[in-house]
Amino acid sequence: MTQEWEAGRLDSDLEGVGFDTLAVRAGQQRTPEGEHGEPLFFTSSYVFRTAADAAARFAGEVPGNVYSRYTNPTVRTFEQRIAALEGAEQAVATASGMSAILATVMSLCGAGDHVLVSRSVFGATVSLFEKYLKRFGVQVDYVPLADLDAWAAAFKPNTRLLFVESPSNPLAELVDIRALADLAHAKDAWLMVDNCFCTPVLQQPLALGADIVIHSATKYIDGQGRCLGGVVAGRSEQMKEVVGFLRTAGPTLSPFNAWVFLKGLETLRLRMQAHCASAQALAEWLETQPGIERVHYAGLASHPQHELARRQQKGFGAVLSFEVAGGKDAAWRFIDATRLISITANLGDTKTTITHPATTTHGRLSPEERANAGIRDSLIRVAVGLEEVEDLKADLARGLQAL
Ligand SMILES: *Cc1c(COP(=O)(O)O)cnc(C)c1O
Repeated sequence: MTQEWEAGRLDSDLEGVGFDTLAVRAGQQRTPEGEHGEPLFFTSSYVFRTAADAAARFAGEVPGNVYSRYTNPTVRTFEQRIAALEGAEQAVATASGMSAILATVMSLCGAGDHVLVSRSVFGATVSLFEKYLKRFGVQVDYVPLADLDAWAAAFKPNTRLLFVESPSNPLAELVDIRALADLAHAKDAWLMVDNCFCTPVLQQPLALGADIVIHSATKYIDGQGRCLGGVVAGRSEQMKEVVGFLRTAGPTLSPFNAWVFLKGLETLRLRMQAHCASAQALAEWLETQPGIERVHYAGLASHPQHELARRQQKGFGAVLSFEVAGGKDAAWRFIDATRLISITANLGDTKTTITHPATTTHGRLSPEERANAGIRDSLIRVAVGLEEVEDLKADLARGLQAL
């Protein structure tokens, strides 16, 4: 016999509960089958009871699903759970992290608007602005992430949006999000934060004053290297525009991927704590090793923004980078000597990855652009996974021996 569930019953029971409870339960709606796990609605379309019902749903006069490019119950659960964890009024899921950025800029900016972008953002984000959005009349300028005076000086009368990643990849630089949000609001602009590296476990940009948060759910939210997805979160008035763009243009999230991400969210805090603990141990150990010239990790007292990181984040993340003596050849020898760690540019996986930014993720930049961004040929990035930290140390020691 099936048990009847009141729609929304669990939602109303979540008033005032903590982050971990929301990560496991927010947004779940049970079907009359009474399933305990989140149901996967693997359907492209929905049936209507009558022709009149179809007409009313198409016209938006009665609520209900029409087509999965518009709404899907599994995707909705993921959106509601992310909104709860980021402290947002509403969240909207997208097919990838890049389509989260695309959808936000396409729906909130138009020709003649000016966007300020941190110099240290994901490579494809720069290409999106440079190769495509500029073609449609969006003006873009780049600002050094940590330099608040440079941000203040870069505003124009038509500046509408500021876009940052904090901490940055691969050098782990930060910006004071609250101070930057204040600057943006004084000029009637919005601050948008790519929170991919921290996840809401370590940092909640909206609580610090930012207006919009985006994620590549492909990274820590899945956390196990299985599928691509993204999400945008913010105020309902803005998200309504983002939803409008996604319904029309189509880069919406697959319900299967939404279901995988829901499972990822349930263990996100436990995984982030383990990722951070191992990254801290490795950063401290690397800093003492001969052949290592510098370690970039905000959890180290030697990091110039260590105090800001302590104030702004609940942990320091799991991406660290370091410079080896001897330039590119030495960096490649180091990477090639590892046996356990995967040579790949991905991050946010259970499996630790190692990459040479100057010839991979940042390889398309000119040598001068790389120098400006502080990406030296001697730099190696490690995204720390969940293996035994002693095994990771032993593997990095193979790299050290090859220098
Ligand atoms: C990977 C990544 C993206 C792009 O996400 P996809 O899911 O690969 O489209 C955007 N921002 C950051 C910081 C990323 O690491």
